[in-house]
Amino acid sequence: HNPFLTLNYEPALESLGNDYYDEVVAAEFPQHILRWRNDAVLPCLGLDTQKVTNEDFITAFGKFQGRKPLLALRYHGYQFGEYNSRLGDGRGFLYGQVRATDGELYDFGTKGSGTTPYSRGGDGMLTLKGGVREVLAAEALHYLGVRTSRCLTMIETGLALWRGDEPSPTRSSVMVRMSSSHIRFGTFERLHFFRRPDLSKKLLDHVIEHYYRHLLGEKDKYALFYAELVKRIAELVAQWMAVGFCHAVLNTDNMSITGESFDYGPYAFIPTYDPYFTAAYFDYYRRYCYSHQPSICKLNLELLQEPLKAIIDPGDLAAGLASFNKYYQVKYRSLMLKKLGFEELCYSEADELLNLTIKFLQDSQIGYHEFFYEMARTFSPKWRDEPALVMSTSDIVPASGTSPIFDDWCVLYHKILNYFDLEHLDVISQTLTNQNPQTALLRPVIESVWEPIFQEDNWQPFDELIKKIQSGS
Ligand code: AMP
Ligand code: MG
Ligand code: MG
Repeated sequence: HNPFLTLNYEPALESLGNDYYDEVVAAEFPQHILRWRNDAVLPCLGLDTQKVTNEDFITAFGKFQGRKPLLALRYHGYQFGEYNSRLGDGRGFLYGQVRATDGELYDFGTKGSGTTPYSRGGDGMLTLKGGVREVLAAEALHYLGVRTSRCLTMIETGLALWRGDEPSPTRSSVMVRMSSSHIRFGTFERLHFFRRPDLSKKLLDHVIEHYYRHLLGEKDKYALFYAELVKRIAELVAQWMAVGFCHAVLNTDNMSITGESFDYGPYAFIPTYDPYFTAAYFDYYRRYCYSHQPSICKLNLELLQEPLKAIIDPGDLAAGLASFNKYYQVKYRSLMLKKLGFEELCYSEADELLNLTIKFLQDSQIGYHEFFYEMARTFSPKWRDEPALVMSTSDIVPASGTSPIFDDWCVLYHKILNYFDLEHLDVISQTLTNQNPQTALLRPVIESVWEPIFQEDNWQPFDELIKKIQSGS
């Protein structure tokens, strides 16, 4: 028997009735080559990694044998500011929902599993590179502490695809995502578009029941839900900003109602601190550039108020959104201070240190990830003795001594270190190491594992990269 077929499936969305989805049939593929299985998530599903065979993955998620119904979810969304009423799962479906050992409900959602009523002339497929990129993004973000979907598996399908933006024909994959939910802001926008507040309410009750369970008994649970969603999204975008992640396509159909990060297309990690860094080549107006992410997420939350106004008092919605900036700033500040080694920093210099750090990173254009990793690598308790010692051994700042901002930064960092006992410096060193792994998923790194796959079907560098990411090194 196949262990994936006997998990604790719950027909949570299915039981809402067919106003929210269409039943679809999966594509059949000429080949099924297992390229990635995420053994790290199997225990959470109650599965023993030793006992799950590659064939189990292939039968379940490459051939889609033995599970029904497969549901293409309906949604709309604002794409680059324009409302699109022709969206929906165009190349994926909800394979099933599973109650995991942590008590949470998880979606298995496919990507690249064939056409649906929402394919809009698309082929319903996912390129192999697209699969590789999403697997890497999800693992990298997860191990950086970002709340994200994961990938359960990725299978190469043997289909050749023709795509404008890649050398054609290109290879194809089907990927299975494990996420807390595939209900999007755009799911509610669609119901509003069709003037169905009854269906919105039913869906919102479902969302609260499954993903905001602690609010169930509350009198004003709907307003509290929105207030909490605002907090979750504000903190999520703070996490992206701190780790230097640019999602690239922050359309409302890519915003999860649970506040989890998902759907990784043309994303990129910033190489250097550049507020206007833009990951998607087709984002001509830099709408979703790195520094716009907080305000775009806030805007998306504001757009979500339209459908929610049928259920929640507009005054409550406005009050909920008003806290966005505060939540964002508190979280971003705390995460950045952690990257600088401080679990907590109550000194008045904390904000000055943050500002100086950003100013230096932006002014020098040295590597964003390299800077923090180099700090972690070279940190020494001796830094407390003398400002000149701070990062003096580092090659990452060749302009040391010639950059007035960096000199100020060193003096300030030295000053802050002197507020701590000598024993505490080990804690700082440990925090620096934990927060700033060497492995950063920059574009050249992705290319360096993609090239061997593309050129000689060598998956070893890909596997090694994932191992490094998963070990936090
Ligand atoms: P995304 O930008 O990846 O969030 O996708 C936007 C919409 O386009 C979603 O509804 C997708 O399902 C759909 N889509 C993307 N690529 C394809 C494709 N190759 N075939 C069919 N639909 C697609
Ligand atoms: Mg999407
Ligand atoms: Mg996508």
